[in-house]
Amino acid sequence: MNQLFLPFALPEIGEEEIAEVVSTLRSGWVTTGPKAKQFEADFAELIGGGVEAIAVNSATAGLHLGLEALGIGPGDEVITTTHTFTATAEIIRYLGADPVFVDVDAKTLCIDVAAVDAAITPRTKAIIPVHFGGRAADMVALLAVARKHGLRVMEDAAHALPTTCGGKLVGTLDSDITVFSFYANKTITTGEGGMLVTRNPDIANRARVMRLHGINRDAFDRFTSKTPSWYYEIVAPGFKYNMTDVAAAMGIHQLKKANLFQQKRAHIAALYDAAFAQLPIICPPHAEIGDIHSWHLYPIQLDDSVEVGRDTFIDSMFAQGIGCSVHYIPLHLHPYWRETYKLTPEMFPDSQHIYEHTLSLPIYPRMTGADVARVIAAVKVALG
Ligand SMILES: *Cc1c(COP(=O)(O)O)cnc(C)c1O
Repeated sequence: MNQLFLPFALPEIGEEEIAEVVSTLRSGWVTTGPKAKQFEADFAELIGGGVEAIAVNSATAGLHLGLEALGIGPGDEVITTTHTFTATAEIIRYLGADPVFVDVDAKTLCIDVAAVDAAITPRTKAIIPVHFGGRAADMVALLAVARKHGLRVMEDAAHALPTTCGGKLVGTLDSDITVFSFYANKTITTGEGGMLVTRNPDIANRARVMRLHGINRDAFDRFTSKTPSWYYEIVAPGFKYNMTDVAAAMGIHQLKKANLFQQKRAHIAALYDAAFAQLPIICPPHAEIGDIHSWHLYPIQLDDSVEVGRDTFIDSMFAQGIGCSVHYIPLHLHPYWRETYKLTPEMFPDSQHIYEHTLSLPIYPRMTGADVARVIAAVKVALG
């Protein structure tokens, strides 16, 4: 029996990433420079559809820059889902605007588009859907609602590389902005990092300027172009959100493996699906037929018939050496959001029910067949 603890998530870092980081360190250029530029170009090419890609030091930074570029400010409302990580909503507060939280569709675990429609007021300016776990939200319906009301759409695609929706890669849909995350446990990683993607040149230019102090040329341009290297102009009170070349060096090689990683995750998801088919477990929703699910997460729901509670179930998994997590403690339960916006569980019955019955199992490329079998065996024991 393997007694080693199986962590909930582990990055898959190869020798290529390590060599590129080392050569970056030796190059003398460690902050934003040639590697970040190359990573942006490679990313834009992989996404396709003529997008511009702007590398930042987190998806949270990218989401903040995106909403800022859309001109969101005090008095504005932005609709998003309660069933997400706090970063999705906190960036709305950074700009002094107010999030309006809606429930999820229990079938997709993504934002309920009918609830979005019902939540629109004269103050509503934008919608932020989340592709939960890497399964695309219903973007056709959501974009139709946005268009009908003249609202902007920014996709939180922190889980969604690579994910498709209607056969199109997330990042190329008809929204204004899409933001990806390269946090340590995401589908590809740069340790910390993110990418803002848009086809709108005004948004791209604004995000580029605001990502580095509101300077109208970045440091790399300053030190490599012909005009005097010391000269720059500040055109806005910007942020410090640029991606370092050390991080981008990892990203260049992680990106090449994004499709392979997705295939490995999809394989694990299929093994779980088959193993749990006869158990009182609700498996996570699949992508629509013909679409790609990134399988960032594999959240299971315990059926109402399961006697053992979710917390006890997770304790049992840990006791058997398997790390699990919960995605998410919905925002309506956290003190800041609950108290500021007077939120109650009754306002979000689907998210609340899912939260109380759900846990996420390990799913990452480094897992072996034996690891997957161990998780499956532990689930059967934990069910009691
Ligand atoms: C991870 C995550 C983020 C934030 O990503 P960072 O790169 O850590 O800033 C935002 N939204 C969702 C849904 C996430 O899971």
